[in-house]
Amino acid sequence: MFCDLHMHSTASDGTDAPDALPRLAKQAGLAAIALTDHDTTAGLPACADAARAARIDFIPGIELSADPSSIPGPAPDTADRPPRGTLHLLGYFIRHDDPQLARVQERLRRAREERNPAMVERLNELGVNITYDEVLEAAGALSAGGSSSSDIVGRPHIAQVMVQKGYVRSIHEAFARYIGEGGEAYVRKDRLAAADAIAAITAAGGLAFLAHPVQLRLDSPDELEHLVKRLAEMGLAGIETRHSDHTPADAQRFEHLAERFDLLTCGGSDYHGGRKAIQLGGVRVPFAVYERLRDAHAAAA
Ligand code: AMP
Ligand code: ZN
Ligand code: FE
Ligand code: FE
Repeated sequence: MFCDLHMHSTASDGTDAPDALPRLAKQAGLAAIALTDHDTTAGLPACADAARAARIDFIPGIELSADPSSIPGPAPDTADRPPRGTLHLLGYFIRHDDPQLARVQERLRRAREERNPAMVERLNELGVNITYDEVLEAAGALSAGGSSSSDIVGRPHIAQVMVQKGYVRSIHEAFARYIGEGGEAYVRKDRLAAADAIAAITAAGGLAFLAHPVQLRLDSPDELEHLVKRLAEMGLAGIETRHSDHTPADAQRFEHLAERFDLLTCGGSDYHGGRKAIQLGGVRVPFAVYERLRDAHAAAA
């Protein structure tokens, strides 16, 4: 038996509605899933209902973007290094309507509402003529309600419009040339401090996990160890060891790291529907990983 504890729905930047995922997961042979949309819990109630109907175990989750530079490096000489890559924190078993987590979501939404139009403006200056309304439409954010309306608008939606209007041939090209970090139209987004992300997840009754550590793009195992130690002090519960971006050697390395710091492990595909070439359940995560998480949550409650 397998589980998949990392996936996105149309509530953020996936292409499957939250209430469609449980059935698809069942068809893929999975026995438990977690919905972990970026910066929003909007899809959780519909997904929970559909999971009950499909008789598949469900964890209400979230994936929060945090600022890697909110964690000081291991030595003073690291202060002048360029900021590290992506720091994402997964929250599991969160209460979807927790007020503190709601305030965090509101802040992150405002950050996107500032950043997305700024990126569209830069694209316009570069001769890429797309409008912010087209981006909102691509996200489904202009349709009123319904299970496939998006709560979160982001770069994948901008990329989709660029492809549709023929300015780039692929989502990948949109990121590589324009809206990826270092791209001509890239605009940095206000992010949470890691401590605030972990605190919000914990306040909502959840367990916080470090997502896909390879995306941090750290230079050495020592740096990762240092970062995990700091996060553990902030209340981190575990590490995502299995992920589509991880090689088997990465996964093993992260399993050892989790063991060393007495942390739980989780894993998943990071499925985004048609937006990425990743299959639901495409990363084999034993059902026992889900059971340990479930039991840890029950013990903490
Ligand atoms: P945003 O939250 O608006 O900054 O968008 C981030 C999302 O864009 C991530 O969650 C990924 O799903 C997607 N993404 C980031 N980099 C790339 C890339 N190089 N190619 C395709 N998708 C990407
Ligand atoms: Zn995404
Ligand atoms: Fe992520
Ligand atoms: Fe993700």
